Amino acid sequence: MTKTLQLINTESTLPAATTVVIIGGGIVGVSAALSLAERNIPVVLLEKGHIAGEQSSRNLGWIRKTSRHIDDIPLAIAADQLWADMAKRVGKDVGYKQTGIMFLAQNEAQLATHEAWLESVKSLSLGSKMLSAQEINEYAPRGAGSWAGGVYTPSDGKAEPHLAATAIANAAINRGAKIIQNCAVRSVITAGGKVSGVMTEQGEIRCEQVLLAGGVWSRRFLGNLGISYPTLPLICSALRTKPLDGPTDIAIGGPNFSFRKHDDGGYIITQRARLEAPLSLDHLLVGHRYLKQLRTQGGALDVSLSRYFLDDLALKRKWRNDQISPFEKVRTLNPDANQSIVDEALTNLREVWPLFEEVEIAETWAGLMDITPDSNPVIDRIDAVDGLTVAIGFSGHGFGTGPAAGALAADLVTNASPLVNPSVYRFDRF
Ligand SMILES: Cc1cc2nc3c(=O)[nH]c(=O)nc-3n(C[C@H](O)[C@H](O)[C@H](O)COP(=O)(O)OP(=O)(O)OC[C@H]3O[C@@H](n4cnc5c(N)ncnc54)[C@H](O)[C@@H]3O)c2cc1C
Repeated sequence: MTKTLQLINTESTLPAATTVVIIGGGIVGVSAALSLAERNIPVVLLEKGHIAGEQSSRNLGWIRKTSRHIDDIPLAIAADQLWADMAKRVGKDVGYKQTGIMFLAQNEAQLATHEAWLESVKSLSLGSKMLSAQEINEYAPRGAGSWAGGVYTPSDGKAEPHLAATAIANAAINRGAKIIQNCAVRSVITAGGKVSGVMTEQGEIRCEQVLLAGGVWSRRFLGNLGISYPTLPLICSALRTKPLDGPTDIAIGGPNFSFRKHDDGGYIITQRARLEAPLSLDHLLVGHRYLKQLRTQGGALDVSLSRYFLDDLALKRKWRNDQISPFEKVRTLNPDANQSIVDEALTNLREVWPLFEEVEIAETWAGLMDITPDSNPVIDRIDAVDGLTVAIGFSGHGFGTGPAAGALAADLVTNASPLVNPSVYRFDRF
């Protein structure tokens, strides 16, 4: 978690029974809990650590359609509306602003990628447009970069990850959801091939439906049920500066940096072209499914054999309901920020916006993302276990779509008419 995450108090007594159990208190799980509670459906959300302790408080807070795959954009559009109404819905400002998002290109090849994306989504009328170097300097002045151009979507925006998931969780509680922290779910219990409950570290809860929203842990959770689901981890390191007079409120992604203004007036900065890919046993098991991604994005990856390999190997892949599960061993996944990467992010940014020379660093952190082979999530009912639905694999861009993903998952759990066509998120596409 980042220093600014606000922890929330929740109850500690496990109920004997409910209708829906949600596993995982990230942005997706809490959004689903709120959606279900608003429909008066009894729901219990169980979180092994604390609400938003993992990816959902560590992300950059970008809410974007820009550069998303066209299949994923209807969910992003639905999410825009939910973010716009969020303060009213949860009774708290979560820092949502339609600041716009811009991606910059330093050469013609990079520009061609942005043009190809814009062409691929032209049927959707997103209001996105290509920018000239002069327009970039007008939108984000005081720069020294030499740009071939960029792509800009004014209706994209940001919210504050240290506020959003906890505010949504509190709203869910106010609408009748039960949320219990420090309570890992070990497994799903079935009777006659159908969900009948979950086994937690504190005992059993009977239920009719289970929604797994377990982020990076979902592959392990499903693996223990005999269900193979491919994801691989990537680590992103970030820094936040103390307040400064920056160039713009627009979130900007350059080829080797990104920045966006934090609510407190500081900036959150990353090196977009350096993500850590810590090797694990999973690379041997499912790595071959990622060859296409590796060909297009491989240059941005720092592949390494690190402590992660042994830490991951030490965690069980199979356990019984009466055994301590990996989820109790790691309450909150807290990878170290890579200092050389955050230093490089700042160096690269200073070359193009020298005003960042003056910054003081407020904090650095890192988070682990769950990447699927096609970088889109899985939001689907699982045929092998009647009553089990998943909303997982958000591949580094699930904060923005989180509220809509939670609502869609709630639709699937309750057989309601889905918010968007869910077929692109099918589990069986893998
Ligand atoms: C550094 C970084 C930057 C990012 N930037 C952006 C961005 O700008 N915009 C964007 O849209 N996305 C971004 N993302 C991605 C985004 O944060 C994630 O896609 C999103 O938060 C995923 O939400 P989630 O609810 O699926 O998972 P998580 O937030 O990881 O939540 C899953 C929760 O489930 C709990 N859990 C797991 N297993 C169990 C169990 N068995 N029992 C109980 N609890 C369990 C975990 O403890 C965890 O709290 C970024 C991610 C990182 C790391």
